[in-house]
Amino acid sequence: MLSTVTTYDAVVIGAGPNGLVAANRLADAGWSVLVLEAQAAVGGAVASADDVHLLFVHDTFSSFYPLAAASPAVQSLGLEEHGLRWSRAPAVLGHPFPDGRWALQVQDREATAQMMDADRPGDGEAWLDLCGRWDRIGEAVIEGLLTPLPPVRAGTKALRRLPQVGGLDFVRLMLTPAGELGRGRFAGDLPPVLLAGNAGHADIPLDAAGSSVMALVLTMLGHTVGFPVPEGGAGELTRAMAARFEARGGEIRCEHEVDAIEVRDGRAVAVQAAGTSFTARRAVLADVNAAVLFGGLVADEHLPRRVARGMRSFQLDPATVKVDWALSGKVPWASPPAYDPGTVHVADSLSEMSEALSQVAAGAVPAQPFMLVGQMTTADPTRSPDGTEALWAYTHVPHETVHDAGDGSVRGVWDHDDCERMADRMQARLERLAPGLGSRILARRVLGPRELEERNASLVGGSLNGGTAQLHQQLVFRPYAGGGRAETGIAGLYLASSSAHPGGGVHGAPGMNAARAALAHGRLRPFRRGTV
Ligand SMILES: Cc1cc2nc3c(=O)[nH]c(=O)nc-3n(C[C@H](O)[C@H](O)[C@H](O)COP(=O)(O)OP(=O)(O)OC[C@H]3O[C@@H](n4cnc5c(N)ncnc54)[C@H](O)[C@@H]3O)c2cc1C
Repeated sequence: MLSTVTTYDAVVIGAGPNGLVAANRLADAGWSVLVLEAQAAVGGAVASADDVHLLFVHDTFSSFYPLAAASPAVQSLGLEEHGLRWSRAPAVLGHPFPDGRWALQVQDREATAQMMDADRPGDGEAWLDLCGRWDRIGEAVIEGLLTPLPPVRAGTKALRRLPQVGGLDFVRLMLTPAGELGRGRFAGDLPPVLLAGNAGHADIPLDAAGSSVMALVLTMLGHTVGFPVPEGGAGELTRAMAARFEARGGEIRCEHEVDAIEVRDGRAVAVQAAGTSFTARRAVLADVNAAVLFGGLVADEHLPRRVARGMRSFQLDPATVKVDWALSGKVPWASPPAYDPGTVHVADSLSEMSEALSQVAAGAVPAQPFMLVGQMTTADPTRSPDGTEALWAYTHVPHETVHDAGDGSVRGVWDHDDCERMADRMQARLERLAPGLGSRILARRVLGPRELEERNASLVGGSLNGGTAQLHQQLVFRPYAGGGRAETGIAGLYLASSSAHPGGGVHGAPGMNAARAALAHGRLRPFRRGTV
């Protein structure tokens, strides 16, 4: 028998960055707010610990936060007052080529352009031209992406600025597939791999429209805010969010996995966790994957027909294998870069990167996986003892594997052995660029799709962005056709996670959008039946 122990204005399910942004916004408005988190600690996919090696802090999931640094939702919290300090590597981003060259981006655009010019005269100037155009319109583009649909104010601003950046030519640039973005614009191969590698942070194929949005946003943020990391570990970011929330009277209960949301007369009224029913007077905000929420925490019988129908086509983003290493020395790059990057992209060429991403989409385990790599001690010297490196790499793999495009050693069932074989493949790929890496390994941890989901139920099957970022599941199609806003069609229930517009990444926009929607409805009609 469930017993109601406490009543709150709002219950937030999940203490990921979006849940914590939402909780803070509601607490700022004077609401009483309870956050229920399934895991033993807050943070969601923004967490860190010394569980790989006692002398090292490793980020369990995400690491680099340019989106947080540029996000009004996160910046408005003033987290520095709650202990957050940012740190940055000497270079934002690096991409090593097998011939020993590096494509490097440093925060200083002129210095970046000089390196490009040294490789291929003229490319630096073309890079600066791209940056100059972004200066005029980028802020409006980012505001448009991070505010609720329709982004009227940002859209008007962007339209007004469009003629200054080339009008339709700029629109075409944004729509050009990322793999093509460099063609015709740059003579060399350094700028194109930097752009395409950043597109690879989302799961939009490099030959599909929409892939350039992520490429341009991340690359340009690399110049404006860099790729910062929280000093002391990723978890310091969400720890500061939680501290701010608690300082405003908010309550967090960890190890409280929510089993169900109670819906009465079409309205979410309470949340069940750990044998208790928590009443939500005004709103329930769900910072969980849409696949966990609809038909899971909210039973099918309570779903509006269009949500139930829309969710039948909901598509996850690909699965992930992540490897963490504690290294006794720095990564012994065969050809060291001029500036040490925090983020490193690994693919021998643009076409190889494209091929690996296409293989994943087609259900094949890539023979030469495209890897995102983090040199975390380079980005933040507090992560491990002097001269060592806290290193990670992750790559995408299919949920349903058809075959191994490599030597057949990976079956694609993602049990322990499979994940270890995949990790071997990833490590061998790094070792080719950094001979001797293996002899510096003090500890290694492999997190496959199952381990990721065990540590965070929202990472369904090891997917990391709350659903595919491809165009057919963005904007009003996120997470289902007719979506796009935090409202769910069930009164008082708001989707606050990366499954909501604008999607994955640590920018807090889905959380902020959900809180704003709840506040707007809560002001209008708390407890009225049948309203959304
Ligand atoms: C390996 C990896 C690397 C990434 N790298 C980056 C990066 O470098 N930069 C970046 O910007 N983004 C990165 N991301 C993406 C980013 O971390 C996510 O988009 C972001 O964390 C989403 O925030 P969220 O609050 O929506 O969800 P999450 O962070 O996933 O939080 C959801 C929370 O809900 C909890 N939960 C789930 N179900 C329940 C339940 N039934 N009851 C109670 N609690 C529940 C979970 O335990 C979790 O704490 C990465 C993600 C992963 C997995």
